[in-house]
Amino acid sequence: MIDPPTKVIYSIDVEDNINPISEIALERILNIFKERRIKASFLLTGDKLKQLLERKRHGILNMLKSHDIGYHSSKHSKHPTIPEYTRDLGWEKGLKIMMESEENDVKLVQETFGVMPSTFGAPGDVWVPYITAFCKEIGIRSEVYNPVELAGWSPCYFMGLPNFGSAWIRYDPQYHNECIRIFDTEAKNLRGNVIVRLHPSKFVQKGWWDSVYYPTTSNYNALRTKEFSNEKILRNYENFNDFLDTVSENANITNFGEVNSSLSGQATELTIEGILDAANNIEKNIFPIWTDGQGISYADLFYALLTSVISYEERKRVPQKITINKTILGPMSEDPFENVSEVVLSWKQLTIICNNMLQEINRNDSLKAAISTSKFNIGSGDMLRALALLYKGLTEDKYPKKVIIKRGFRLPSPIQDIFVRKFPSLWKWPVLPENFTLPKELYLARAQVWSLKPLVQ
Ligand SMILES: [Zn+2]
Repeated sequence: MIDPPTKVIYSIDVEDNINPISEIALERILNIFKERRIKASFLLTGDKLKQLLERKRHGILNMLKSHDIGYHSSKHSKHPTIPEYTRDLGWEKGLKIMMESEENDVKLVQETFGVMPSTFGAPGDVWVPYITAFCKEIGIRSEVYNPVELAGWSPCYFMGLPNFGSAWIRYDPQYHNECIRIFDTEAKNLRGNVIVRLHPSKFVQKGWWDSVYYPTTSNYNALRTKEFSNEKILRNYENFNDFLDTVSENANITNFGEVNSSLSGQATELTIEGILDAANNIEKNIFPIWTDGQGISYADLFYALLTSVISYEERKRVPQKITINKTILGPMSEDPFENVSEVVLSWKQLTIICNNMLQEINRNDSLKAAISTSKFNIGSGDMLRALALLYKGLTEDKYPKKVIIKRGFRLPSPIQDIFVRKFPSLWKWPVLPENFTLPKELYLARAQVWSLKPLVQ
Protein backbone atom coordinates (compact mmCIF):
# COMPACT_ATOMS: atom_id res chain seq x y z
CA MET A 1 0.00 0.00 0.00
CA ILE A 2 1.41 3.38 -0.99
CA ASP A 3 0.78 6.18 1.46
CA PRO A 4 -1.18 8.94 -0.20
CA PRO A 5 0.15 12.46 0.32
CA THR A 6 -1.14 14.30 3.34
CA LYS A 7 -4.45 16.03 2.81
CA VAL A 8 -5.32 18.94 5.04
CA ILE A 9 -8.84 20.05 5.85
CA TYR A 10 -9.34 23.52 7.32
CA SER A 11 -12.29 23.18 9.67
CA ILE A 12 -13.47 26.60 10.83
CA ASP A 13 -15.97 26.90 13.67
CA VAL A 14 -18.37 29.80 13.11
CA GLU A 15 -20.09 30.11 16.47
CA ASP A 16 -19.39 33.40 18.29
CA ASN A 17 -22.69 35.26 18.40
CA ILE A 18 -21.71 37.33 21.43
CA ASN A 19 -18.80 39.49 20.20
CA PRO A 20 -19.46 41.33 16.91
CA ILE A 21 -15.70 41.74 16.42
CA SER A 22 -15.46 38.02 15.60
CA GLU A 23 -17.45 38.71 12.42
CA ILE A 24 -14.69 41.01 11.22
CA ALA A 25 -12.25 38.16 11.77
CA LEU A 26 -14.50 35.74 9.92
CA GLU A 27 -14.70 38.10 6.96
CA ARG A 28 -10.94 38.56 6.95
CA ILE A 29 -10.29 34.81 6.98
CA LEU A 30 -12.79 34.32 4.17
CA ASN A 31 -10.86 36.90 2.15
CA ILE A 32 -7.53 35.22 2.88
CA PHE A 33 -8.93 31.91 1.62
CA LYS A 34 -10.43 33.63 -1.41
CA GLU A 35 -7.08 35.13 -2.43
CA ARG A 36 -5.49 31.74 -2.10
CA ARG A 37 -8.36 29.90 -3.80
CA ILE A 38 -8.67 27.54 -0.86
CA LYS A 39 -11.96 25.75 -0.42
CA ALA A 40 -12.30 25.13 3.30
CA SER A 41 -15.03 23.71 5.54
CA PHE A 42 -16.97 26.20 7.67
CA LEU A 43 -18.99 24.65 10.50
CA LEU A 44 -21.86 26.92 11.48
CA THR A 45 -24.06 26.92 14.53
CA GLY A 46 -27.75 27.59 13.99
CA ASP A 47 -27.62 30.61 16.31
CA LYS A 48 -24.74 32.22 14.41
CA LEU A 49 -26.35 31.60 11.03
CA LYS A 50 -29.59 33.25 12.22
CA GLN A 51 -27.58 36.24 13.39
CA LEU A 52 -25.78 36.60 10.05
CA LEU A 53 -29.14 36.42 8.27
CA GLU A 54 -30.80 38.93 10.61
CA ARG A 55 -27.95 41.38 10.25
CA LYS A 56 -28.07 40.90 6.48
CA ARG A 57 -24.38 40.03 6.28
CA HIS A 58 -24.71 39.17 2.59
CA GLY A 59 -20.99 39.65 1.94
CA ILE A 60 -20.06 36.98 4.44
CA LEU A 61 -22.93 34.68 3.44
CA ASN A 62 -21.99 34.89 -0.24
CA MET A 63 -18.36 34.14 0.44
CA LEU A 64 -19.39 31.16 2.61
CA LYS A 65 -21.35 29.80 -0.35
CA SER A 66 -18.14 29.07 -2.23
CA HIS A 67 -16.94 26.84 0.62
CA ASP A 68 -17.96 23.51 2.06
CA ILE A 69 -20.52 23.95 4.83
CA GLY A 70 -20.79 21.82 7.95
CA TYR A 71 -22.99 21.98 11.03
CA HIS A 72 -21.81 22.74 14.56
CA SER A 73 -25.09 22.32 16.54
CA SER A 74 -27.94 24.72 17.05
CA LYS A 75 -26.81 26.48 20.23
CA HIS A 76 -23.26 25.26 20.97
CA SER A 77 -22.56 26.32 24.57
CA LYS A 78 -25.97 27.66 25.53
CA HIS A 79 -27.54 25.54 28.25
CA PRO A 80 -28.79 22.92 28.01
CA THR A 81 -25.99 21.82 25.64
CA ILE A 82 -26.28 18.58 23.66
CA PRO A 83 -24.59 16.41 26.33
CA GLU A 84 -26.85 18.00 28.95
CA TYR A 85 -30.16 17.66 27.16
CA THR A 86 -29.52 14.10 25.91
CA ARG A 87 -27.90 12.78 29.08
CA ASP A 88 -29.04 9.31 30.13
CA LEU A 89 -31.80 9.10 27.51
CA GLY A 90 -30.71 6.02 25.55
CA TRP A 91 -30.84 5.55 21.78
CA GLU A 92 -34.49 6.13 21.04
CA LYS A 93 -35.25 9.14 23.24
CA GLY A 94 -31.79 10.60 22.65
CA LEU A 95 -32.39 10.62 18.90
CA LYS A 96 -35.91 11.98 19.32
CA ILE A 97 -34.86 14.98 21.38
CA MET A 98 -31.94 15.69 19.07
CA MET A 99 -34.36 15.79 16.15
CA GLU A 100 -36.59 18.21 18.05
CA SER A 101 -33.68 20.47 19.00
CA GLU A 102 -31.47 20.35 15.90
CA GLU A 103 -33.53 19.50 12.84
CA ASN A 104 -34.82 23.01 12.12
CA ASP A 105 -31.36 24.54 12.12
CA VAL A 106 -29.97 21.85 9.82
CA LYS A 107 -32.84 22.76 7.49
CA LEU A 108 -31.95 26.44 7.79
CA VAL A 109 -28.38 25.65 6.70
CA GLN A 110 -29.83 23.69 3.80
CA GLU A 111 -32.14 26.53 2.76
CA THR A 112 -29.42 29.15 3.03
CA PHE A 113 -26.65 27.31 1.22
CA GLY A 114 -28.61 24.87 -0.91
CA VAL A 115 -26.78 21.84 0.45
CA MET A 116 -27.07 19.42 3.33
CA PRO A 117 -24.21 20.12 5.80
CA SER A 118 -21.28 17.86 4.91
CA THR A 119 -20.39 17.05 8.50
CA PHE A 120 -21.43 17.48 12.14
CA GLY A 121 -18.81 18.78 14.56
CA ALA A 122 -19.63 18.19 18.21
CA PRO A 123 -19.42 21.48 20.16
CA GLY A 124 -16.58 21.50 22.67
CA ASP A 125 -15.67 17.99 21.38
CA VAL A 126 -18.20 16.63 23.85
CA TRP A 127 -19.52 14.00 21.50
CA VAL A 128 -22.40 11.75 22.46
CA PRO A 129 -23.46 8.70 20.44
CA TYR A 130 -26.88 10.19 19.64
CA ILE A 131 -25.10 12.70 17.37
CA THR A 132 -24.13 9.83 15.07
CA ALA A 133 -27.68 8.50 15.13
CA PHE A 134 -28.94 12.01 14.32
CA CYS A 135 -26.56 12.40 11.34
CA LYS A 136 -27.71 9.10 9.90
CA GLU A 137 -31.35 9.99 10.39
CA ILE A 138 -31.16 13.42 8.80
CA GLY A 139 -28.62 12.64 6.07
CA ILE A 140 -25.45 14.41 7.26
CA ARG A 141 -22.75 12.29 5.67
CA SER A 142 -19.87 12.47 8.12
CA GLU A 143 -18.71 13.51 11.59
CA VAL A 144 -15.76 15.37 13.01
CA TYR A 145 -14.57 16.25 16.55
CA ASN A 146 -15.66 12.73 17.46
CA PRO A 147 -13.09 11.19 19.80
CA VAL A 148 -13.80 7.61 18.69
CA GLU A 149 -11.05 7.46 16.12
CA LEU A 150 -8.48 5.08 14.75
CA ALA A 151 -5.06 6.68 15.01
CA GLY A 152 -3.74 7.36 11.55
CA TRP A 153 -6.99 6.56 9.75
CA SER A 154 -8.97 9.63 8.92
CA PRO A 155 -11.73 9.15 8.24
CA CYS A 156 -12.58 5.78 9.70
CA TYR A 157 -16.06 4.30 9.68
CA PHE A 158 -17.94 4.39 12.97
CA MET A 159 -21.52 3.13 13.02
CA GLY A 160 -21.34 3.20 9.24
CA LEU A 161 -20.60 6.93 9.06
CA PRO A 162 -17.25 8.39 7.92
CA ASN A 163 -15.71 9.88 11.05
CA PHE A 164 -12.84 12.38 10.73
CA GLY A 165 -12.00 12.21 14.44
CA SER A 166 -10.58 15.06 16.46
CA ALA A 167 -8.55 17.93 15.06
CA TRP A 168 -4.83 17.23 14.69
CA ILE A 169 -3.94 20.90 14.92
CA ARG A 170 -6.00 23.52 16.70
CA TYR A 171 -4.67 26.60 15.03
CA ASP A 172 -4.53 29.50 17.43
CA PRO A 173 -2.43 32.53 16.42
CA GLN A 174 -1.24 32.75 20.04
CA TYR A 175 0.49 29.39 19.57
CA HIS A 176 1.56 29.89 15.98
CA ASN A 177 5.08 28.47 16.39
CA GLU A 178 3.81 25.38 18.14
CA CYS A 179 1.27 24.77 15.36
CA ILE A 180 3.99 25.04 12.70
CA ARG A 181 6.15 22.63 14.69
CA ILE A 182 3.38 20.05 15.00
CA PHE A 183 2.67 20.31 11.30
CA ASP A 184 6.35 19.96 10.33
CA THR A 185 7.25 17.12 12.64
CA GLU A 186 4.10 15.04 12.84
CA ALA A 187 1.09 16.04 10.77
CA LYS A 188 2.69 16.28 7.35
CA ASN A 189 3.70 12.61 7.41
CA LEU A 190 0.30 11.30 8.32
CA ARG A 191 -1.80 9.11 6.11
CA GLY A 192 -5.29 10.36 5.51
CA ASN A 193 -6.72 13.75 6.39
CA VAL A 194 -5.21 16.14 8.88
CA ILE A 195 -7.85 18.39 10.37
CA VAL A 196 -6.68 21.93 11.13
CA ARG A 197 -9.34 23.52 13.27
CA LEU A 198 -9.66 27.20 13.97
CA HIS A 199 -11.94 29.80 15.49
CA PRO A 200 -11.99 33.24 13.82
CA SER A 201 -12.62 34.93 17.16
CA LYS A 202 -9.19 33.76 18.41
CA PHE A 203 -7.57 36.17 15.91
CA VAL A 204 -9.10 39.24 17.50
CA GLN A 205 -9.54 38.47 21.17
CA LYS A 206 -8.09 36.29 23.88
CA GLY A 207 -10.25 34.02 26.00
CA TRP A 208 -13.40 32.26 24.83
CA TRP A 209 -16.55 33.87 23.45
CA ASP A 210 -18.73 31.34 25.27
CA SER A 211 -17.26 32.03 28.73
CA VAL A 212 -20.57 33.79 29.50
CA TYR A 213 -22.04 30.28 29.74
CA TYR A 214 -19.42 28.90 32.12
CA PRO A 215 -21.07 27.80 35.35
CA THR A 216 -18.13 28.66 37.61
CA THR A 217 -16.87 32.20 38.15
CA SER A 218 -13.24 31.09 38.36
CA ASN A 219 -13.42 29.61 34.86
CA TYR A 220 -15.23 32.69 33.65
CA ASN A 221 -12.64 35.03 35.12
CA ALA A 222 -9.77 33.04 33.69
CA LEU A 223 -11.17 32.73 30.18
CA ARG A 224 -13.42 35.70 29.47
CA THR A 225 -12.72 37.63 26.28
CA LYS A 226 -10.51 40.65 25.87
CA GLU A 227 -9.81 42.30 22.52
CA PHE A 228 -6.25 42.35 21.18
CA SER A 229 -4.56 45.54 20.07
CA ASN A 230 -4.65 46.37 16.35
CA GLU A 231 -0.94 45.56 15.95
CA LYS A 232 -1.45 42.17 17.55
CA ILE A 233 -4.41 41.44 15.29
CA LEU A 234 -2.40 42.31 12.18
CA ARG A 235 0.44 40.07 13.33
CA ASN A 236 -2.04 37.24 13.87
CA TYR A 237 -3.17 37.40 10.24
CA GLU A 238 0.44 37.53 9.07
CA ASN A 239 1.27 34.46 11.11
CA PHE A 240 -1.74 32.69 9.71
CA ASN A 241 -0.58 33.47 6.17
CA ASP A 242 2.78 31.90 7.06
CA PHE A 243 1.04 28.84 8.38
CA LEU A 244 -1.02 28.54 5.18
CA ASP A 245 2.20 28.78 3.13
CA THR A 246 3.83 25.98 5.10
CA VAL A 247 0.80 23.74 4.69
CA SER A 248 0.40 24.43 0.97
CA GLU A 249 4.04 23.51 0.33
CA ASN A 250 3.63 20.12 1.97
CA ALA A 251 0.05 18.98 1.54
CA ASN A 252 -3.01 19.04 -0.64
CA ILE A 253 -6.04 20.92 0.62
CA THR A 254 -9.42 19.29 0.66
CA ASN A 255 -12.64 19.58 2.68
CA PHE A 256 -15.23 17.32 4.25
CA GLY A 257 -17.71 17.53 1.35
CA GLU A 258 -15.04 16.60 -1.20
CA VAL A 259 -13.88 13.61 0.83
CA ASN A 260 -17.46 12.45 1.39
CA SER A 261 -18.16 12.35 -2.32
CA SER A 262 -14.95 10.45 -3.04
CA LEU A 263 -15.99 7.61 -0.75
CA SER A 264 -17.68 4.78 -2.56
CA GLY A 265 -20.08 2.74 -0.49
CA GLN A 266 -18.58 -0.45 -1.82
CA ALA A 267 -19.47 -3.76 -0.25
CA THR A 268 -17.09 -5.75 1.93
CA GLU A 269 -16.00 -8.97 0.24
CA LEU A 270 -14.39 -11.70 2.27
CA THR A 271 -12.69 -14.86 1.04
CA ILE A 272 -12.01 -18.01 3.05
CA GLU A 273 -8.32 -17.02 3.33
CA GLY A 274 -9.28 -13.54 4.47
CA ILE A 275 -11.64 -14.80 7.16
CA LEU A 276 -9.10 -17.40 8.25
CA ASP A 277 -6.43 -14.75 8.60
CA ALA A 278 -8.64 -12.51 10.76
CA ALA A 279 -9.97 -15.46 12.77
CA ASN A 280 -6.48 -16.75 13.55
CA ASN A 281 -5.58 -13.38 15.03
CA ILE A 282 -8.64 -13.06 17.21
CA GLU A 283 -6.79 -13.34 20.50
CA LYS A 284 -3.85 -11.15 19.52
CA ASN A 285 -5.50 -7.85 20.33
CA ILE A 286 -5.04 -6.56 16.79
CA PHE A 287 -6.83 -3.41 15.73
CA PRO A 288 -7.91 -2.54 13.13
CA ILE A 289 -8.53 -5.80 11.26
CA TRP A 290 -6.99 -5.58 7.83
CA THR A 291 -7.80 -8.51 5.53
CA ASP A 292 -8.54 -9.19 1.86
CA GLY A 293 -7.13 -5.73 1.12
CA GLN A 294 -9.66 -3.84 3.18
CA GLY A 295 -10.45 -2.82 6.71
CA ILE A 296 -13.27 -4.76 8.32
CA SER A 297 -15.08 -4.33 11.61
CA TYR A 298 -15.44 -6.93 14.33
CA ALA A 299 -19.15 -7.01 13.48
CA ASP A 300 -18.28 -7.84 9.84
CA LEU A 301 -16.04 -10.68 10.98
CA PHE A 302 -18.73 -11.98 13.31
CA TYR A 303 -21.32 -11.88 10.52
CA ALA A 304 -18.97 -13.80 8.21
CA LEU A 305 -18.34 -16.46 10.88
CA LEU A 306 -22.03 -16.88 11.69
CA THR A 307 -22.83 -17.21 7.98
CA SER A 308 -20.05 -19.78 7.61
CA VAL A 309 -21.33 -21.94 10.48
CA ILE A 310 -24.89 -21.94 9.12
CA SER A 311 -23.68 -22.70 5.62
CA TYR A 312 -21.53 -25.54 6.91
CA GLU A 313 -24.47 -27.00 8.84
CA GLU A 314 -26.70 -26.87 5.74
CA ARG A 315 -24.28 -27.77 2.94
CA LYS A 316 -21.23 -29.18 4.71
CA ARG A 317 -18.98 -26.42 3.40
CA VAL A 318 -18.18 -22.83 4.18
CA PRO A 319 -18.88 -20.21 1.48
CA GLN A 320 -16.00 -19.30 -0.89
CA LYS A 321 -16.94 -15.67 -0.67
CA ILE A 322 -19.10 -13.61 1.66
CA THR A 323 -20.38 -10.19 0.61
CA ILE A 324 -21.53 -7.72 3.23
CA ASN A 325 -23.30 -4.71 1.81
CA LYS A 326 -24.67 -3.11 4.93
CA THR A 327 -23.37 -1.62 8.15
CA ILE A 328 -23.70 -3.96 11.07
CA LEU A 329 -23.90 -2.06 14.33
CA GLY A 330 -22.76 -3.25 17.73
CA PRO A 331 -25.27 -4.18 20.43
CA MET A 332 -27.73 -1.43 21.32
CA SER A 333 -28.09 -2.66 24.91
CA GLU A 334 -25.96 -4.05 27.69
CA ASP A 335 -24.51 -7.55 27.78
CA PRO A 336 -26.10 -9.22 30.81
CA PHE A 337 -22.74 -10.51 31.97
CA GLU A 338 -23.06 -13.55 34.12
CA ASN A 339 -20.85 -15.04 36.68
CA VAL A 340 -20.15 -18.17 34.67
CA SER A 341 -16.72 -18.74 33.18
CA GLU A 342 -17.70 -21.04 30.35
CA VAL A 343 -20.61 -22.77 28.67
CA VAL A 344 -20.40 -26.08 26.80
CA LEU A 345 -22.68 -26.49 23.79
CA SER A 346 -23.31 -29.38 21.45
CA TRP A 347 -22.76 -28.66 17.75
CA LYS A 348 -26.53 -28.71 17.24
CA GLN A 349 -27.13 -26.19 20.06
CA LEU A 350 -24.39 -23.99 18.65
CA THR A 351 -25.92 -23.88 15.18
CA ILE A 352 -29.34 -22.99 16.61
CA ILE A 353 -27.85 -20.07 18.55
CA CYS A 354 -25.84 -18.94 15.52
CA ASN A 355 -29.03 -19.00 13.48
CA ASN A 356 -30.77 -16.80 16.06
CA MET A 357 -27.87 -14.36 16.10
CA LEU A 358 -27.77 -14.15 12.30
CA GLN A 359 -31.52 -13.59 12.08
CA GLU A 360 -31.22 -10.83 14.63
CA ILE A 361 -28.56 -9.10 12.52
CA ASN A 362 -30.66 -9.45 9.38
CA ARG A 363 -33.69 -8.00 11.16
CA ASN A 364 -32.08 -5.03 12.96
CA ASP A 365 -28.65 -4.57 11.34
CA SER A 366 -27.20 -4.77 14.83
CA LEU A 367 -25.80 -7.48 17.07
CA LYS A 368 -27.59 -8.66 20.13
CA ALA A 369 -25.62 -8.00 23.31
CA ALA A 370 -26.23 -11.59 24.36
CA ILE A 371 -28.27 -14.57 23.34
CA SER A 372 -30.36 -16.06 26.10
CA THR A 373 -31.04 -19.73 26.39
CA SER A 374 -33.14 -21.28 29.09
CA LYS A 375 -29.99 -21.87 31.13
CA PHE A 376 -27.53 -19.03 30.43
CA ASN A 377 -26.61 -15.97 28.37
CA ILE A 378 -23.85 -15.94 25.79
CA GLY A 379 -22.34 -12.59 24.84
CA SER A 380 -21.63 -11.76 21.20
CA GLY A 381 -17.94 -11.28 21.98
CA ASP A 382 -17.71 -14.72 23.54
CA MET A 383 -19.41 -16.27 20.53
CA LEU A 384 -17.12 -14.37 18.15
CA ARG A 385 -14.04 -15.82 19.81
CA ALA A 386 -15.47 -19.36 19.90
CA LEU A 387 -16.41 -19.28 16.20
CA ALA A 388 -13.05 -17.79 15.19
CA LEU A 389 -11.31 -20.69 16.91
CA LEU A 390 -13.35 -23.36 15.14
CA TYR A 391 -13.46 -21.77 11.66
CA LYS A 392 -10.22 -23.40 10.45
CA GLY A 393 -11.65 -26.84 11.23
CA LEU A 394 -14.74 -26.08 9.18
CA THR A 395 -12.62 -25.15 6.15
CA GLU A 396 -11.06 -28.62 6.45
CA ASP A 397 -14.46 -30.26 6.85
CA LYS A 398 -13.99 -30.97 10.54
CA TYR A 399 -16.51 -29.83 13.07
CA PRO A 400 -16.46 -30.31 16.83
CA LYS A 401 -19.06 -32.39 18.65
CA LYS A 402 -18.86 -30.00 21.58
CA VAL A 403 -17.89 -26.35 21.69
CA ILE A 404 -16.63 -24.56 24.77
CA ILE A 405 -17.64 -20.92 24.95
CA LYS A 406 -15.59 -18.93 27.41
CA ARG A 407 -17.23 -15.87 28.90
CA GLY A 408 -15.66 -12.45 29.25
CA PHE A 409 -14.20 -11.70 25.81
CA ARG A 410 -13.69 -7.99 25.20
CA LEU A 411 -12.85 -6.26 21.95
CA PRO A 412 -9.19 -5.21 21.67
CA SER A 413 -7.85 -2.91 24.32
CA PRO A 414 -6.11 -0.39 22.00
CA ILE A 415 -9.47 0.94 21.03
CA GLN A 416 -11.18 0.46 24.37
CA ASP A 417 -8.40 2.63 25.81
CA ILE A 418 -9.80 5.62 23.96
CA PHE A 419 -12.78 5.58 26.22
CA VAL A 420 -10.73 5.38 29.34
CA ARG A 421 -8.22 8.06 28.30
CA LYS A 422 -10.16 10.55 26.25
CA PHE A 423 -13.74 10.78 27.37
CA PRO A 424 -13.31 11.89 30.96
CA SER A 425 -11.07 14.76 29.80
CA LEU A 426 -13.71 15.89 27.30
CA TRP A 427 -16.23 16.25 30.08
CA LYS A 428 -13.98 18.88 31.59
CA TRP A 429 -15.26 21.31 28.92
CA PRO A 430 -15.67 24.46 31.04
CA VAL A 431 -19.22 24.95 29.79
CA LEU A 432 -20.36 21.82 31.63
CA PRO A 433 -21.10 21.68 35.35
CA GLU A 434 -18.26 20.45 37.51
CA ASN A 435 -18.03 16.64 37.82
CA PHE A 436 -20.23 16.12 34.79
CA THR A 437 -20.14 12.53 33.51
CA LEU A 438 -21.95 10.44 30.91
CA PRO A 439 -21.74 6.81 32.05
CA LYS A 440 -24.64 5.57 29.96
CA GLU A 441 -23.46 7.30 26.79
CA LEU A 442 -19.96 5.98 27.37
CA TYR A 443 -21.36 2.48 27.57
CA LEU A 444 -23.49 2.85 24.43
CA ALA A 445 -20.55 4.28 22.48
CA ARG A 446 -18.21 1.50 23.62
CA ALA A 447 -20.56 -1.16 22.33
CA GLN A 448 -20.34 0.44 18.87
CA VAL A 449 -16.62 -0.30 18.66
CA TRP A 450 -17.95 -3.43 16.97
CA SER A 451 -18.71 -1.27 13.93
CA LEU A 452 -15.40 0.63 13.79
CA LYS A 453 -13.21 0.08 10.75
CA PRO A 454 -10.46 1.85 8.85
CA LEU A 455 -11.11 3.43 5.52
CA VAL A 456 -8.66 4.15 2.76
CA GLN A 457 -9.55 6.66 0.11
ZN1 LIG B 1 -17.05 25.09 18.57
